[in-house]
Amino acid sequence: MVKDPVCGMMVDEKKTSLKSEHDGQTFYFCSASCKRSFDADPHKYGHSK
Ligand SMILES: [Zn+2]
Repeated sequence: MVKDPVCGMMVDEKKTSLKSEHDGQTFYFCSASCKRSFDADPHKYGHSK
């Protein structure tokens, strides 16, 4: 399980097809709207560095 960076929900990475790659990391999402929010502004969610 991995954390959806947008809403904080735990997501099963083996079951979801909602994912985005950013800075060499793969992020998984619980819903298409979370993915959209992330894709619109990955730096807001993707990493704190
Ligand atoms: Zn979500």
